Amino acid sequence: MNRLDIDQLSVTYQNGVKALQHISLDISNGMFGLLGPNGAGKSTLMKTIMGLQRPRQGTITFNGEDAVENPAFLRRQTGFLPQDFGVYPKVSAYDLLQHLAILKGVNNARQRKTQILDLLAKVNLYDVRHKAVHTFSGGMKQRFGVAQTLLGHPQMIIVDEPTAGLDPEERNRFNILLNDISEEMIVILSTHLVEDVRNLCSRMAIIRQGTLLATGAPEDMITGL
Ligand code: ADP
Ligand code: ADP
Repeated sequence: MNRLDIDQLSVTYQNGVKALQHISLDISNGMFGLLGPNGAGKSTLMKTIMGLQRPRQGTITFNGEDAVENPAFLRRQTGFLPQDFGVYPKVSAYDLLQHLAILKGVNNARQRKTQILDLLAKVNLYDVRHKAVHTFSGGMKQRFGVAQTLLGHPQMIIVDEPTAGLDPEERNRFNILLNDISEEMIVILSTHLVEDVRNLCSRMAIIRQGTLLATGAPEDMITGL
Protein backbone atom coordinates (compact mmCIF):
# COMPACT_ATOMS: atom_id res chain seq x y z
CA MET A 1 0.00 0.00 0.00
CA ASN A 2 1.36 3.43 -0.97
CA ARG A 3 0.81 6.53 1.10
CA LEU A 4 0.99 10.16 0.14
CA ASP A 5 0.68 12.55 3.09
CA ILE A 6 0.28 16.23 2.43
CA ASP A 7 0.34 18.40 5.51
CA GLN A 8 -0.44 22.11 5.75
CA LEU A 9 0.81 22.77 2.23
CA SER A 10 0.90 26.38 1.04
CA VAL A 11 2.20 27.62 -2.31
CA THR A 12 2.69 31.27 -3.20
CA TYR A 13 3.84 32.28 -6.68
CA GLN A 14 6.46 34.98 -7.20
CA ASN A 15 3.80 37.51 -8.14
CA GLY A 16 2.17 37.01 -4.72
CA VAL A 17 -0.73 34.78 -5.84
CA LYS A 18 -1.54 32.41 -2.98
CA ALA A 19 -2.32 29.38 -5.14
CA LEU A 20 -2.65 26.91 -2.23
CA GLN A 21 -3.27 27.56 1.44
CA HIS A 22 -2.95 25.00 4.25
CA ILE A 23 -3.88 21.93 2.22
CA SER A 24 -3.77 18.65 4.17
CA LEU A 25 -4.61 15.31 2.50
CA ASP A 26 -3.86 11.62 3.15
CA ILE A 27 -3.99 9.57 -0.02
CA SER A 28 -3.50 5.81 -0.45
CA ASN A 29 -4.01 3.27 -3.27
CA GLY A 30 -7.18 3.75 -5.27
CA MET A 31 -8.63 6.59 -7.26
CA PHE A 32 -8.44 9.99 -5.62
CA GLY A 33 -10.40 12.80 -7.24
CA LEU A 34 -9.17 16.37 -7.15
CA LEU A 35 -12.20 18.43 -8.01
CA GLY A 36 -12.27 22.16 -8.50
CA PRO A 37 -13.08 24.86 -11.05
CA ASN A 38 -10.44 26.50 -13.26
CA GLY A 39 -7.98 28.47 -11.19
CA ALA A 40 -8.70 26.48 -8.01
CA GLY A 41 -5.11 25.33 -7.66
CA LYS A 42 -5.28 21.78 -9.07
CA SER A 43 -2.30 22.22 -11.41
CA THR A 44 -0.31 23.87 -8.66
CA LEU A 45 -1.00 20.94 -6.35
CA MET A 46 0.01 18.43 -9.04
CA LYS A 47 3.20 20.36 -9.84
CA THR A 48 4.08 20.57 -6.16
CA ILE A 49 3.48 16.85 -5.58
CA MET A 50 5.74 16.11 -8.55
CA GLY A 51 8.49 18.29 -7.15
CA LEU A 52 8.25 20.93 -9.89
CA GLN A 53 7.11 23.70 -7.57
CA ARG A 54 8.55 24.34 -4.13
CA PRO A 55 5.96 24.99 -1.42
CA ARG A 56 6.24 28.05 0.80
CA GLN A 57 5.14 25.96 3.74
CA GLY A 58 4.13 22.44 4.66
CA THR A 59 5.29 18.91 3.96
CA ILE A 60 4.72 16.17 1.40
CA THR A 61 5.69 12.65 2.41
CA PHE A 62 5.53 9.68 0.05
CA ASN A 63 5.91 6.24 1.60
CA GLY A 64 7.75 7.84 4.49
CA GLU A 65 10.19 9.83 2.35
CA ASP A 66 10.25 13.64 2.50
CA ALA A 67 9.28 14.59 -1.05
CA VAL A 68 10.03 18.30 -0.70
CA GLU A 69 13.62 17.74 0.40
CA ASN A 70 14.12 14.82 -1.99
CA PRO A 71 11.99 15.54 -5.09
CA ALA A 72 13.94 13.06 -7.24
CA PHE A 73 12.62 10.19 -5.11
CA LEU A 74 9.00 11.08 -5.81
CA ARG A 75 9.61 11.90 -9.48
CA ARG A 76 11.03 8.43 -10.06
CA GLN A 77 7.90 6.87 -8.59
CA THR A 78 5.34 9.11 -10.22
CA GLY A 79 3.87 9.04 -13.72
CA PHE A 80 2.10 12.06 -15.13
CA LEU A 81 -0.50 11.99 -17.89
CA PRO A 82 -1.02 15.54 -19.15
CA GLN A 83 -4.30 16.67 -20.60
CA ASP A 84 -3.00 16.52 -24.14
CA PHE A 85 0.13 14.60 -25.02
CA GLY A 86 0.30 16.50 -28.29
CA VAL A 87 2.07 15.46 -31.42
CA TYR A 88 3.32 11.95 -32.01
CA PRO A 89 6.04 10.96 -34.44
CA LYS A 90 5.13 8.58 -37.27
CA VAL A 91 6.28 5.42 -35.54
CA SER A 92 4.39 2.43 -34.24
CA ALA A 93 3.07 2.20 -30.69
CA TYR A 94 5.52 -0.62 -30.00
CA ASP A 95 8.54 1.26 -31.36
CA LEU A 96 7.67 4.44 -29.50
CA LEU A 97 7.34 2.62 -26.17
CA GLN A 98 10.58 0.81 -26.95
CA HIS A 99 12.32 4.14 -27.50
CA LEU A 100 10.90 5.61 -24.28
CA ALA A 101 11.84 2.50 -22.30
CA ILE A 102 15.43 2.83 -23.51
CA LEU A 103 15.44 6.48 -22.42
CA LYS A 104 14.13 5.35 -19.02
CA GLY A 105 17.10 3.01 -18.74
CA VAL A 106 15.38 -0.35 -19.24
CA ASN A 107 18.52 -1.82 -20.79
CA ASN A 108 17.77 -5.51 -20.90
CA ALA A 109 16.16 -6.19 -24.32
CA ARG A 110 14.13 -9.16 -23.18
CA GLN A 111 12.80 -7.37 -20.09
CA ARG A 112 11.97 -4.37 -22.21
CA LYS A 113 9.99 -6.43 -24.70
CA THR A 114 8.03 -8.21 -21.95
CA GLN A 115 7.28 -4.94 -20.17
CA ILE A 116 6.11 -3.22 -23.36
CA LEU A 117 3.89 -6.08 -24.52
CA ASP A 118 2.36 -6.32 -21.03
CA LEU A 119 1.64 -2.60 -21.03
CA LEU A 120 0.13 -2.69 -24.51
CA ALA A 121 -2.13 -5.56 -23.45
CA LYS A 122 -3.10 -3.73 -20.27
CA VAL A 123 -4.27 -0.63 -22.15
CA ASN A 124 -5.96 -2.73 -24.83
CA LEU A 125 -3.70 -1.71 -27.69
CA TYR A 126 -1.90 -5.02 -28.19
CA ASP A 127 -3.62 -5.73 -31.50
CA VAL A 128 -2.68 -2.36 -32.94
CA ARG A 129 0.86 -2.27 -31.56
CA HIS A 130 2.37 -2.06 -35.05
CA LYS A 131 0.14 0.85 -36.09
CA ALA A 132 1.41 4.43 -35.89
CA VAL A 133 0.28 6.34 -32.81
CA HIS A 134 -0.59 9.47 -34.81
CA THR A 135 -3.32 7.48 -36.61
CA PHE A 136 -4.99 6.48 -33.31
CA SER A 137 -8.34 7.89 -32.18
CA GLY A 138 -8.44 10.26 -29.20
CA GLY A 139 -9.33 7.43 -26.83
CA MET A 140 -6.56 5.18 -28.15
CA LYS A 141 -4.05 8.01 -27.79
CA GLN A 142 -5.11 8.55 -24.20
CA ARG A 143 -4.74 4.84 -23.47
CA PHE A 144 -1.35 4.92 -25.14
CA GLY A 145 -0.53 7.85 -22.85
CA VAL A 146 -1.35 5.62 -19.88
CA ALA A 147 1.03 2.95 -21.15
CA GLN A 148 3.71 5.63 -21.46
CA THR A 149 2.95 6.85 -17.95
CA LEU A 150 3.26 3.32 -16.55
CA LEU A 151 6.72 2.68 -18.02
CA GLY A 152 9.23 2.24 -15.22
CA HIS A 153 6.64 0.91 -12.75
CA PRO A 154 5.50 4.07 -10.90
CA GLN A 155 3.75 3.79 -7.53
CA MET A 156 1.52 6.76 -8.28
CA ILE A 157 0.11 8.33 -11.43
CA ILE A 158 -1.40 11.76 -11.78
CA VAL A 159 -3.86 12.31 -14.61
CA ASP A 160 -5.03 15.74 -15.68
CA GLU A 161 -8.53 16.00 -17.21
CA PRO A 162 -7.95 12.72 -19.06
CA THR A 163 -11.35 12.38 -20.70
CA ALA A 164 -11.57 15.87 -22.19
CA GLY A 165 -12.59 15.49 -25.84
CA LEU A 166 -13.40 11.78 -25.68
CA ASP A 167 -16.77 10.40 -26.76
CA PRO A 168 -18.84 8.60 -24.07
CA GLU A 169 -17.77 5.11 -25.10
CA GLU A 170 -14.07 5.94 -25.14
CA ARG A 171 -14.47 7.81 -21.88
CA ASN A 172 -16.07 4.82 -20.26
CA ARG A 173 -13.35 2.52 -21.54
CA PHE A 174 -10.66 4.88 -20.31
CA ASN A 175 -12.26 5.14 -16.90
CA ILE A 176 -12.41 1.36 -16.54
CA LEU A 177 -8.69 1.23 -17.32
CA LEU A 178 -7.88 3.84 -14.66
CA ASN A 179 -9.99 2.01 -12.14
CA ASP A 180 -8.15 -1.21 -12.87
CA ILE A 181 -4.75 0.46 -12.47
CA SER A 182 -5.80 2.07 -9.19
CA GLU A 183 -5.94 -1.34 -7.52
CA GLU A 184 -2.16 -1.38 -7.51
CA MET A 185 -1.22 2.25 -6.99
CA ILE A 186 -2.35 5.75 -6.19
CA VAL A 187 -4.20 7.37 -9.09
CA ILE A 188 -4.88 11.07 -8.68
CA LEU A 189 -7.51 12.34 -11.08
CA SER A 190 -7.63 16.09 -11.51
CA THR A 191 -10.87 17.24 -13.06
CA HIS A 192 -13.69 19.75 -13.02
CA LEU A 193 -16.21 17.00 -13.87
CA VAL A 194 -18.26 16.01 -10.82
CA GLU A 195 -19.56 13.01 -12.74
CA ASP A 196 -16.13 11.43 -13.26
CA VAL A 197 -15.30 11.81 -9.59
CA ARG A 198 -18.64 10.40 -8.51
CA ASN A 199 -18.35 7.39 -10.83
CA LEU A 200 -14.71 6.59 -10.29
CA CYS A 201 -13.16 7.81 -7.09
CA SER A 202 -13.22 6.23 -3.67
CA ARG A 203 -11.93 9.43 -2.05
CA MET A 204 -11.91 13.02 -3.16
CA ALA A 205 -11.06 16.59 -2.29
CA ILE A 206 -12.80 19.74 -3.38
CA ILE A 207 -10.54 22.76 -3.73
CA ARG A 208 -11.55 26.30 -4.52
CA GLN A 209 -9.40 29.40 -4.59
CA GLY A 210 -6.49 27.47 -3.17
CA THR A 211 -8.26 26.18 -0.10
CA LEU A 212 -9.57 22.73 0.75
CA LEU A 213 -13.35 22.91 1.04
CA ALA A 214 -13.90 19.28 1.94
CA THR A 215 -12.39 15.82 1.66
CA GLY A 216 -13.88 12.35 2.05
CA ALA A 217 -15.88 9.76 0.12
CA PRO A 218 -17.78 11.11 -2.92
CA GLU A 219 -21.08 9.56 -1.78
CA ASP A 220 -20.92 11.64 1.39
CA MET A 221 -19.96 14.81 -0.41
CA ILE A 222 -21.49 15.34 -3.81
CA THR A 223 -25.11 14.36 -3.50
CA GLY A 224 -26.12 17.99 -3.47
CA LEU A 225 -23.66 19.26 -6.09
P1 ADP B 1 1.80 26.21 -17.60
O1 ADP B 1 1.13 25.57 -18.76
O2 ADP B 1 3.06 25.55 -17.15
O3 ADP B 1 0.87 26.56 -16.47
P2 ADP B 1 1.43 28.76 -18.77
O4 ADP B 1 1.53 28.70 -20.25
O5 ADP B 1 0.12 28.78 -18.09
O6 ADP B 1 2.33 27.59 -18.17
O7 ADP B 1 2.26 30.00 -18.24
C1 ADP B 1 3.36 30.52 -18.95
C2 ADP B 1 4.14 31.40 -17.98
O8 ADP B 1 3.28 32.34 -17.33
C3 ADP B 1 4.81 30.60 -16.91
O9 ADP B 1 6.11 31.14 -16.72
C4 ADP B 1 3.98 30.81 -15.69
O10 ADP B 1 4.81 30.84 -14.54
C5 ADP B 1 3.33 32.17 -15.92
N1 ADP B 1 1.92 32.19 -15.43
C6 ADP B 1 0.97 31.26 -15.63
N2 ADP B 1 -0.19 31.62 -15.07
C7 ADP B 1 0.05 32.82 -14.48
C8 ADP B 1 -0.74 33.73 -13.73
N3 ADP B 1 -2.03 33.49 -13.46
N4 ADP B 1 -0.18 34.84 -13.27
C9 ADP B 1 1.11 35.08 -13.54
N5 ADP B 1 1.92 34.29 -14.24
C10 ADP B 1 1.40 33.17 -14.71
P1 ADP C 1 -6.20 24.99 -11.80
O1 ADP C 1 -5.21 23.96 -12.25
O2 ADP C 1 -7.15 24.46 -10.78
O3 ADP C 1 -6.88 25.65 -12.93
P2 ADP C 1 -3.84 26.57 -11.08
O4 ADP C 1 -3.07 25.79 -10.09
O5 ADP C 1 -3.37 26.57 -12.49
O6 ADP C 1 -5.39 26.14 -11.01
O7 ADP C 1 -3.93 28.07 -10.61
C1 ADP C 1 -4.16 28.47 -9.27
C2 ADP C 1 -3.96 29.99 -9.16
O8 ADP C 1 -2.58 30.28 -9.32
C3 ADP C 1 -4.68 30.78 -10.23
O9 ADP C 1 -5.07 32.00 -9.62
C4 ADP C 1 -3.61 31.02 -11.29
O10 ADP C 1 -3.86 32.17 -12.02
C5 ADP C 1 -2.37 31.14 -10.45
N1 ADP C 1 -1.14 30.68 -11.13
C6 ADP C 1 -0.92 29.48 -11.72
N2 ADP C 1 0.32 29.36 -12.18
C7 ADP C 1 0.93 30.52 -11.86
C8 ADP C 1 2.25 31.01 -12.04
N3 ADP C 1 3.19 30.29 -12.63
N4 ADP C 1 2.51 32.24 -11.58
C9 ADP C 1 1.59 32.96 -10.95
N5 ADP C 1 0.33 32.57 -10.73
C10 ADP C 1 0.01 31.35 -11.19
